[in-house]
Amino acid sequence: MLVVMHSHATAEQVRAVCERIESLGLKSHPIPGAARTAIGITGNDGAVDLAILESLPGVAECIPVSKPYKLVSRDVKEEDSVIRIPTPLGDVLVGGKHLALVAGPCAVESEAQCMAVAEQLKPTGVRLFRGGAYKPRTSPYSFQGLGEAGLKILAKIRDEFGFGIITEAIDHESLDLVEKYGDVIQIGARNMQNFSLLKRAGRAKKPVLLKRGMSATLDEFLMAAEYILSEGNYNVMLCERGVRTFSDFSRNTLDLAVVPAVKKRSHLPIFVDPSHGTGKRHKVLPLSRAAVAVGADGLLVEVHHQPEKALSDGIQSILPEEFAALCIEIRQIAAVVHREVN
Ligand code: PEP
Ligand code: MN
Repeated sequence: MLVVMHSHATAEQVRAVCERIESLGLKSHPIPGAARTAIGITGNDGAVDLAILESLPGVAECIPVSKPYKLVSRDVKEEDSVIRIPTPLGDVLVGGKHLALVAGPCAVESEAQCMAVAEQLKPTGVRLFRGGAYKPRTSPYSFQGLGEAGLKILAKIRDEFGFGIITEAIDHESLDLVEKYGDVIQIGARNMQNFSLLKRAGRAKKPVLLKRGMSATLDEFLMAAEYILSEGNYNVMLCERGVRTFSDFSRNTLDLAVVPAVKKRSHLPIFVDPSHGTGKRHKVLPLSRAAVAVGADGLLVEVHHQPEKALSDGIQSILPEEFAALCIEIRQIAAVVHREVN
C-alpha cells in the first residue's frame, strides 16, 4: 500500500498520516520525492482499509502496490534515488546523473599492500576505495581476511588519502565493526539472502552496497534490497556482479541487461562489478565500457599493484595503471550518456 500526498501537503500532514498508519499497528515509510511525498506501508498481511487514510488532510490518493517489493519500487519514488557517501574530501554521489567509481584490492592483505594500491590510485581521481577485511571464501583453508585489523588499515587509508571506504560485512559481528570503521557496508553475493544480516544492515546508519546473489532472479535481488529499506535504511545501492550460467569462458556471466531492468522497476542506483563478473583481467575494461553505456551508476573494480602475489582474485585484478586508463575511457563514455563521474 502506498499513500501519495499532495504536492502542497505540509510536513505536519505527512507526520499525521504516518502516525495514523503506525496506530493501525503498521510501519510507515515517508519517502520524499521531487514533486511529492509518498508513504509506503509495510507490515500489512491483508488489505488496509483505504478509506481511513484517504480522508486525512494532504492525502492525494492511496494505491495498492501489487508488486512483491514496495519501498524499492518506482511506484513509491518516480525519480532516481541519489545516494550520498560522505568522505573526508566531501560527499560522493551515486545515482541520477552521478556515476561513481570504486577501486581497490579484493582483500586487505597488509598495510603496505593497501598503501601501495591507494598511492597509485590517488592520481586517477577515484574517490572510493574497496577492500575486504572479511572474505567469504569457498575453501575454509583460503585466506579469510584480517578482520578488525584490516578495518583499521582501511581507516588509515581513509585518513591518509581521503578515500571513502567500502568493505564487506559477512555476519552481525563484522557488520557492527564495518559500520564503525567503513563508509559503505557491502553485503556480498553469498549473503544476498541472509535475511537476518539484511535486517541488521537495514538498521545501520551507513549506506549499503548489496551485491546480487550468483543465482538470484531480479525479483529476489529487489526483495533482498526491500529487506534493508523495510528496516529504515533507504541508502541502498545494488551491484550486478555476474551470475552462474553454462558459460565456460568466464567466472560468471555479467548480466548487463539487468541494469535497464532494475531502472525500470526501481529508483535505486545499480553498480556493475566487471571483476567478479568476468573473473579475467582482460575483460574488465571492455565490460566496464559496456556497463557505463548501458546505464550503470557505478563501477566496482578490483585493482592490485602486484596481482600475481594477491592472496585472492589476482587473476581478475587489474594494475593501477590499467585502472588509470580505464578511468579516462569511462569519463569519455560517461559524457556521451550524460553522466557525471565523481
Ligand atoms: C567482493 O566484492 O569482494 C566479493 C566477494 O564479491 P561477491 O560477493 O560479488 O563475490
Ligand atoms: Mn574478489
